Order: sequence, then C-alpha cells, then structure tokens
Amino acid sequence: MSRTLLLHIDGKDVAASDGASFTVASPTTGETLYDVAHATPADVDTAVTAARTAFDDRRWRGIAPRERARVLNRAAALLADRIDAYARLETLQIGRPLREMRAQLARLPEWLEYFGAVAQTAEGTVPDFGAGHLNVVRRVPLGVAGLITPWNHPLLITMKKLSAALAAGNSLVIKPSELGPAVPLALVGLLEEAGVPPGVVNTVTGLGATTGRALSEHRGLAKLDITGGTETGRTVAANAGRSLIPVTAELGGKAPVLVFADADLDQAVAGALFASFIATGQTCVQGARILVQRSVHDEFTRRLVARTRALRLGDPLAADTQIGPLVSEAQRAKVADAVAKAQDQGARVLAGGRVPEGEAYSRGWFYEPTVVGDVTPAQDLWYEEVFGPLTLVVPFDDEADALRRANDAEFGLASSVWTCDIGTALRVSEGLDVGITWINDHHRIDPASPWGGSKDSGIGSENGLDAYHAYTRPKSVVINSSGQPFDWFATTEDLRYS
Ligand code: NAD
Repeated sequence: MSRTLLLHIDGKDVAASDGASFTVASPTTGETLYDVAHATPADVDTAVTAARTAFDDRRWRGIAPRERARVLNRAAALLADRIDAYARLETLQIGRPLREMRAQLARLPEWLEYFGAVAQTAEGTVPDFGAGHLNVVRRVPLGVAGLITPWNHPLLITMKKLSAALAAGNSLVIKPSELGPAVPLALVGLLEEAGVPPGVVNTVTGLGATTGRALSEHRGLAKLDITGGTETGRTVAANAGRSLIPVTAELGGKAPVLVFADADLDQAVAGALFASFIATGQTCVQGARILVQRSVHDEFTRRLVARTRALRLGDPLAADTQIGPLVSEAQRAKVADAVAKAQDQGARVLAGGRVPEGEAYSRGWFYEPTVVGDVTPAQDLWYEEVFGPLTLVVPFDDEADALRRANDAEFGLASSVWTCDIGTALRVSEGLDVGITWINDHHRIDPASPWGGSKDSGIGSENGLDAYHAYTRPKSVVINSSGQPFDWFATTEDLRYS
C-alpha cells in the first residue's frame, strides 16, 4: 500500500494547494510506493516566504555558531541511529543495493559534524585599511537558498548542500528529485527534532519542469545550488542569472580511468569494476571511459570482462545482490539505446549488452553490466554521458596519449589514475582537466574535500571550506579610528578619501 508524502512548509506537512500529486514506483517491482504532493508555483512561493521570514527574524542565523553546531551534532547522532531504516527506504525507491546504501548513509553524520565545526571555527578578517581606519570583515549568511537535488544519491547530495548552508545560518527550500523524495523529506523532520527551528528548512516536492522551474525562477532566493544533468544546470543557472542569484551547479560527467602498465593489475581491475558499476553505473563520477596502456590492455580487458560477467544482479534488498535495477524505464531505455547506437557505429560488446532474462528480472528495470571495446572519438559513446552500467575500454600508447584522450571530453568532473610510479601519478593528475583525481582509488569522498568539476561538469564545488564560504558573503565594516575631524565641503584643500 502506498504512503502519502506531503510538502513541508514552515514546520508543517501540507498538501499541494491544488491537491495535485504524483506517484513514485519501485524500480524493482513496479509497485507504487508513494503518492507525493506536487507543489505548485504558489506553494513554492509560500515556502520561500516562510524561509525568508525565518531568515529575517533571525530564529536560526541569530543563534551563535557554537549553539548551531550543537544542534547539527544532535542531528548527526539522530541520523546515525536511523541509518538502517533510511538505507532501506532509499533502496526501495531508487533500487540501489542495500549494502551500498548502508555504506553511503553511514558516512552522512560526518557532514553535519564537519560543517558544525567549520561554523564554530570560521573567522572574519581585518584587512589593512591604512592609518586612521579599522576594517572588520565578517562573513554572513546569504538568505534563502534553493537546493535542487537528483535521485541517484538522494540523501548524500541533499546532505552535502544542506549541511554547509545550515551551518552558515541560511534558510532553505529543498526540491528533491521526483524519483527519490522520501528520505530527504524524513531528514527535514529529523533536523527539526534536533532543534532546527520550524520554517528554516522547507521542502517542496514536484517535477523539475514545474516545481523545480518555479523555484529556480523565484526572485526571493539568495542562492541556488543544483545537482543534476548538464542541460538542467544550464536552464537553472540561466533562470538564476536573470535574478543575479549565485549558482553552484554539480552536473554531468564521463570520468576517465587511466591504467598504466606498471599498475597493480588486480587492484586496477577491481578499481575499474567499482568505478564502472557501483550504483549500477548511475553516478556522476562513473568510470565511463577506461584507458589502458597498450602493453597490458588485452590482459586487463580479459580480467575486467570476466569480473563484469560474474556480477550478481537481483533484488537490491537481498544481501548478496551487487547490481540492482536502473531507476526507471527511461533510464534503462537510455542505456539500451546507447549500446545499440555504439554497436551501429562500430563498437563491440565484450560483456553484457542485454536486458537479463528470467522471472527475477521481469518486473524491474534491469540491464546487464556492460563493457564495450573498439570505441573511437568518432562515436557518440565517447562523449555522451549515459548514466548507467555501461563502460568502454580503449588502449593508449604513452602518458601524452593518455592525457590527450582523457581530456578529449566536454565534461571535467573526475578521473582516476592507476600506477605504482609516483612521478607518473603526479604528472598525469597535473595534466588532467578535471576537478577530482583519485590515485589508485576511485569515488572517495569526504566532507572536507572539495567536490566539483570543470567545463560542462558545473560551477563551484561542494564540501570543504569553499562550499561553506559560498553560502556566505563578506560584510565589511569600516571604523574611523583617526580622531580627526573630516569636512570635505568646508575646504578646498586636497583631502584623502578614497
Ligand atoms: P535531472 O537534471 O533530471 O534532475 C535533477 C533535479 O533537477 C531534479 O530534482 C529535477 O526535478 C530538477 N529539474 C529538472 N528539470 C528542471 C528544470 N527545468 N528546472 C528546475 N529543476 C529541474 O538529473 P537526474 O536524472 O536527477 O540526475 C542525474 C544527473 O545528475 C546526471 O547527469 C549526473 O551526472 C548528475 N549528477 C551530478 C553529480 C555531481 O556531483 N556533479 C552528482 C550526482 C548526479
């Protein structure tokens, strides 16, 4: 039986003002899980107004950072107690294996703790203003931040944005993905339980083209922070730009995995497998292009293909499942179409490349983990983000060739380099035009470590001090300490004023 999810505005759960709703279905069984309120533009406006009122009356930003941090730490402790329940909910609605969701969610209290600590230790500056004046610069919160989040890591991505924004004292309106709203909504209740005042965090559920658009066009925002596809990011940033609202945008990727001949080949294969198929390939940092030095290419590919074929697909709630369904019918069709097009354009399927057969897969959006070879930049697959369990393997000759191929991309989010030579690791990471490079690793994240990309992968970054600063602005107070009278219009002398 499906449950109803409501909007959360000014501390209250409310239906959409016109009573409209949409449904969220299980990607594993097709059954309806939730009936979700579909916020109208008027509801978005009510939520922004509630957040603005909370900002203006200082009910959250007026609390000393030390006390705000205590509240965030209480929320972290409550969250730690609910990991299993939330992980199960995430698995039910997006189909990612439960083992993955537990591992991911278990880290999330760290974001609240980290940004609580940042808020307590952040300091202003006193730049030299010359004799006779003292300049005190404090960083203050921006106002109401709109957060628009995707479905692939519903709670992680909400948490990355929300913890920095809240620690800095902002008020929020969150628009979670229409495919995964349940756990972000639960988090808002948890935050209020921990002591975040009602009205500070508001959630409007709905579709991107309606609710998301209304939020991104709202002139009451002081910041927009979106994670999603690159085209969505362009639209949202353009809307925000018309209102001169600063934007952080974490967008698409097509991460290269570079394997050098001197790498520990077992570890490199395990790393490439993880990079390609964690989250059933539905991550922005998915290892979507595996580049292997020619002398080890065939052996590496043989091992990768064997391990890919051995991955266990199935019910994401089952303990031994490694690959769940894709999130939706549309997402599976996108993968199947990309494989068919790649084959038409000359690529060769080395593993997978099919919808699995059998009763266990008949109701869900399953697709076999797939490796393709013989891909060239003349084929669309080289450039396009597919966002599914599909990767390609190609050979390279030397460092320069590896870098040329890796940087031949519209995206610049992440990459990994597999080598035992520190010089190779440093030179190659220096040459990669991306935001994140892992050496002998892939897809590691930490609240203190900046996360963001170059080129079409977005603007700005999450995590770390930069993300905190991006939720504040400098406020400069200049104090005349000279004790000297100043009367410009009483004299014709040359006086100093600028
Ligand atoms: P999406 O762009 O379809 O949707 C993301 C969010 O934007 C959703 O909440 C959606 O409702 C909303 N939205 C859609 N159209 C909108 C519009 N016109 N105006 C306002 N809001 C709108 O993306 P998705 O399918 O949910 O997520 C997958 C994408 O996200 C991939 O491209 C992936 O690479 C990217 N992603 C990036 C990162 C990162 O850190 N860079 C992390 C995860 C996912």
